[in-house]
Amino acid sequence: MTVRVRFAPSPTGYLHIGSARTALFNYLFAKHNKGKYLLRIEDTDRERSTPEAIEAIFSSLNWLGLQPDEEPIFQFSRAERHAEVAHELLKKGHAYYCYCSPEELQIMRDEAAAKKLPPRYNGMWRDRDPATAPATIKPVIRFKSPQEGSLTINDHVQGAVTVQNNQLDDMVLLRADGTPTYMLSVVVDDHDMEITHIIRGDDHLNNAFRQYHIYAAMGWDIPEFAHIPLIHGADGAKLSKRHGATSADVYKDMGFLAESMKNYLLRLGWAHGNDEIINEEQAIEWFSLEGIGRSPARFDMAKLHNLNGHYIRHQDDESLFKLTEPFIEKALGYALSTEEKQRILQGMSGLKERAKTLIELGESAVIYVKTLPLDEKATALMTPENISYLNKLLQKLEGCDFSHDALEAILRSSAEEFGIKLGQLASPLRVAITGQTISPSLFEVMEILGKEESLKRIQKII
Ligand code: GLU
Repeated sequence: MTVRVRFAPSPTGYLHIGSARTALFNYLFAKHNKGKYLLRIEDTDRERSTPEAIEAIFSSLNWLGLQPDEEPIFQFSRAERHAEVAHELLKKGHAYYCYCSPEELQIMRDEAAAKKLPPRYNGMWRDRDPATAPATIKPVIRFKSPQEGSLTINDHVQGAVTVQNNQLDDMVLLRADGTPTYMLSVVVDDHDMEITHIIRGDDHLNNAFRQYHIYAAMGWDIPEFAHIPLIHGADGAKLSKRHGATSADVYKDMGFLAESMKNYLLRLGWAHGNDEIINEEQAIEWFSLEGIGRSPARFDMAKLHNLNGHYIRHQDDESLFKLTEPFIEKALGYALSTEEKQRILQGMSGLKERAKTLIELGESAVIYVKTLPLDEKATALMTPENISYLNKLLQKLEGCDFSHDALEAILRSSAEEFGIKLGQLASPLRVAITGQTISPSLFEVMEILGKEESLKRIQKII
């Protein structure tokens, strides 16, 4: 059996971070099993399913490298096929026309509400002769849900879950206007796409029972299920906007790398011993549904930052520069010149050591374009005494070769000559060169900036 899984988002305008994790789990499960990972856009809500909302999903999946192995399926385009199955169920005796009027349905709802029960269709037309149907009502097609016994689903995450069949009422499959309901469409699509494992959020666990009965009535193979717990915020409540960003795209804009995001999302609800840093190759090798935890994972921003710092440090300079370029230009407010790009690329290995996001990295890279405005700490270092040291140093630097080692040597000998510690000279120099009290190796920065630019900066501050 070839494993075939799908990610089936409903377009809402952005890709929720929890959905991104669902996509990732599907992707990893498919790759681990040398199967196929498919994408189905559940675009039946015509109001919300705008081209922009669909594009937002594609764009986030692209960013994360979670592109499907086959062309995406659009659910709305398959409505005729869904209706066909509703009629087949009718023919097989597993569905029936229901001619209830809106008033009758309202009475059923009111009765249930009075008993504090969820709304439930009372099976009024289940066994009734359609010959008695009122001519004025266009019927819906309802599923004849089994009422005896119970159904146990052995979910790969939730374990064995049992629901009494009489808990499920006869749901609508096809509306009076001939459009299919969600519950029918999902089953037909999953069957036609030959899906073997359904991995999705546990908010769909209840649906699995209704869906199971449709598969069974059609005589179709029933897929395996794995319902993963939703992501919660740090306070334990379901992750929502009030906890911070819930859109995958926003994390891209905040300067997280796709690799760190994937590693983070993987660990959020899935474990392989105590491993925290898990690259994609290892993830594919190790992923299993059994590794998914049963309780909701909590989103931890600090952990995501740390992971991102790790992946930034381990990224090669060239590709890191490309990823950071838009952030640098944003920090600067204009496009980089070729010379500036060159300098930043040379400085990348030093810059990337301390950045936790591409925004931070972009901001710190600005030192290779201009000095940053002095903050309080930096200003405090610009004492008359320090300025006089810088003045004396400037003359020495004029005749100096601007290589890392030569610069270090001259700084050391100057400090000695001035009777101060190396740090006492390096700190104001760092401020003069970068505008900051913390930066990558000062000698490296000066070497990359070159003599002309470095001296200009020192003169300016003096
Ligand atoms: N479209 C549903 C959602 O976005 C998922 C349906 C499914 O995975 O079966 O929640």
